Amino acid sequence: MVSFQRYELPPLPYNYDALEPYIIKDIMELHHKKHHNSYVVGANAALEKLEKHLKGEIQIDVRAVMRDFSFNYAGHIMHTIFWPNMAPPGKGGGTPGGRVADLIDKQFGGFEKFKALFSQAAKTVEGVGWAVLAVDPITSELRILQVEKHNLLMTAGLVPILVIDVWEHAYYLQYKNDRASYVENWWNVVNWSDVERRLEKALNNAKPMYFP
Ligand code: MN
Repeated sequence: MVSFQRYELPPLPYNYDALEPYIIKDIMELHHKKHHNSYVVGANAALEKLEKHLKGEIQIDVRAVMRDFSFNYAGHIMHTIFWPNMAPPGKGGGTPGGRVADLIDKQFGGFEKFKALFSQAAKTVEGVGWAVLAVDPITSELRILQVEKHNLLMTAGLVPILVIDVWEHAYYLQYKNDRASYVENWWNVVNWSDVERRLEKALNNAKPMYFP
């Protein structure tokens, strides 16, 4: 038997206009329905090629198919984290509490220093990509990463808990080429309770996952 399950586009946890005025409805709708969906479709297409190859029905360029899968699957996962990482203004924004705040204070010298470094990582991604706040399960510390495309420079073992998409499709309709303004405004919709939930989950699960 040869069988890989297919992925599905998850619904947004809010309406397309919920993040206005910081991210307009047109961006959210296009970003979710077209861009995120294209990564789901792309990942599934790669799986289908692998299935047919394993069944002897087609020959494939293994390197190309595996590159396709890495890019599209990572795109699917990053967007799946990105949507709940945000919440409508009022619910989102402000500063973190709990363990996230404790770790940020301890490691980065306070929220403002953390915010400046994370923002700088987001603003300076070369081409398209993401800034990522992740947890290192070995040390239970936070790490900031700069990821190109969806998958390049992503670091094995680190668990992402907060991500910002800095592909032009994430901001161009509203901010044109002004990525810096988009990044600054994005802080108004960060859903810190989702970040805290992900941190706790990662710290509880990650160690046994990576070090059985
Ligand atoms: Mn995107």
